[in-house]
Amino acid sequence: MMARTPFDLAAHVQASQNGPCFICELVAGNPDYAHHLIAQDDDSIVFLSKYPTLPGYALVCPKRHVEDLADDITPTHYLALQAVVHRLSRALKAVYDAERIYVLSLGSQQGNSHLHWHVVPLPHGVPYEHQQYHALMAEHGVLRFSDAEMKEAAATIAAAYATILD
Ligand SMILES: [Zn+2]
Repeated sequence: MMARTPFDLAAHVQASQNGPCFICELVAGNPDYAHHLIAQDDDSIVFLSKYPTLPGYALVCPKRHVEDLADDITPTHYLALQAVVHRLSRALKAVYDAERIYVLSLGSQQGNSHLHWHVVPLPHGVPYEHQQYHALMAEHGVLRFSDAEMKEAAATIAAAYATILD
């Protein structure tokens, strides 16, 4: 496995709870909240996580600020977003040596309330006890990539994503 480096969880919690919605700021084009984009359309945006615990760790979000999965979006909107999740999953499979694709919708009303899905390729060979939640928790450290490495990863995933048309 790639070596992880410690993650400043306290600073992250502070920013999440006291800063603006980072997804809305990204959608609005605020350079302070820029991420490496993989894809976007009128309704959704897909980008690499800034705090990856595995290579290819991406997020799928509706562009509009909605929070509650059950109450704030229609079944049709939900399925449209899941189509993006599935298309991204196929792109990640094409790029990474992944034995599974993890998908989670997390967030909190106390921070990071904008609805989003974590879509993460699990590489082959990760010991069982280091898979699943363990593999995703920043508390166990994050991977540090250079900006150039992140840019290249996003471009590679974006190219695979663009070839998946159905
Ligand atoms: Zn938002």
